Amino acid sequence: MVEENVELEYNKKSAWECFSDEQVRQAYSFCEGYKEFLTSVKTEREAIQFIQQVASDHQKKIYVNNHASAAIVVKGSKPISEGIRLVISHVDSPRLDLKQVPLFEDTESNLAMFETHYYGGIKKIHWVTIPLSVHGVVIKADGSKVTFSLGEDANDPVFFVPDLLPHLSHKVQDEKKLRDAIKGEHLDLAIGTKIDIESEKGKLKQAILKKLYDDYGMVEEDFISAELEIVPAYKPRDVGFDRSMVGAYGQDDRVCAYTSLKAILEIDCPVYTSIALFVDKEEIGSEGNTSAQSVTFLRSVIKDIDPSVDVDTVMLNSTVISADVDAAITPNYTEVFELKNASAIGKGISMSKYTGHGGKYSANDASAEYVGEIRRLLNKNNIPWQTGELGKVDNGGGGTVAKYFSRLGMDVIDVGPPVLCMHAPFEITSKLDVYACYLTYKAFLMQ
Ligand code: MN
Ligand code: MN
Repeated sequence: MVEENVELEYNKKSAWECFSDEQVRQAYSFCEGYKEFLTSVKTEREAIQFIQQVASDHQKKIYVNNHASAAIVVKGSKPISEGIRLVISHVDSPRLDLKQVPLFEDTESNLAMFETHYYGGIKKIHWVTIPLSVHGVVIKADGSKVTFSLGEDANDPVFFVPDLLPHLSHKVQDEKKLRDAIKGEHLDLAIGTKIDIESEKGKLKQAILKKLYDDYGMVEEDFISAELEIVPAYKPRDVGFDRSMVGAYGQDDRVCAYTSLKAILEIDCPVYTSIALFVDKEEIGSEGNTSAQSVTFLRSVIKDIDPSVDVDTVMLNSTVISADVDAAITPNYTEVFELKNASAIGKGISMSKYTGHGGKYSANDASAEYVGEIRRLLNKNNIPWQTGELGKVDNGGGGTVAKYFSRLGMDVIDVGPPVLCMHAPFEITSKLDVYACYLTYKAFLMQ
């Protein structure tokens, strides 16, 4: 005899069925703050600056590492030797970076241009002919710093990567494979047409250099000690007649950064010590001193919380949510997903037991016990959730920071919202999924 409340089949419910009307209202209002965050934060540095500011506004303990990663800590009632509850997101997103010597003039087209080198996994065709802005820092010869954020204000100029008109693209683009149609070296940014009439040579280049000197006091060599990032200039928007989605650049993975930030700000006396960790360089393989693979930062944070503690013991006792987005089932391309195991937009957070590719290669594979723990947490809190897997077996795949923390002895699972058009300049999330993320991270960190 099957009892009345037993559900025999796994049934992926819509978040609209799980949430009350009041929760739907809260989700929409939560995403107003989320859109403001995405409006003011377009790079990893700007994210860390934002996080640092609100953490100090809320009197939270924050540690910042090299302008691009950070940890917010809320001490728990249990000693830290019994472990921490850690939510890790990344604050970098795919984009175009300026090269070290970027400025040149294309005399035939009569344009001043910047050379770029793309950062992370982009489809190059997404990045041409859209309005772009310039963000970042320039360290001048005397060591002083200029901060750039140009192209966001309605009165700011924007920039663009030129592309060929369809009338002439037949041979050089249309007949090629999509990935070869636009070359990486062709993602040059158009930045001006004015010439310096007095200049003997390089009139376009001279005009830009003079303008940069007037506006920022910088010279060409200053580009060599700079991090200038080219990102979409448009603002986040509501999407759909029902306004149920958020469309914006950089939601991978700043959606998880924002939701985990909101969660930890509201936590005061958790059982275990809670840490929200924000890392950089995930999109290029988590390399470098601000990335998930550089564990020295987390070790030093743990040591600072309790200098007497053995850090390895803490790690062995800790549990982690790798807070990153998952690929949402995409209309017209459902054949790349295994639909029973893939996640769909608007059905709650996506929980991935494992990531990786072909034969679970390079995966973090969470234990059944740990998945069970997270599943109970989600069900207890009535949070809409679904299981997720990135694509069919042997059909690509991808990883997150999960594996870098599980190898330290921690239990780690991937939990984040499904995203449509991931890594495109305009990524799409469901407002209810975003809210479900926040609820999940909060419930997890409060334990
Ligand atoms: Mn990501
Ligand atoms: Mn990504």
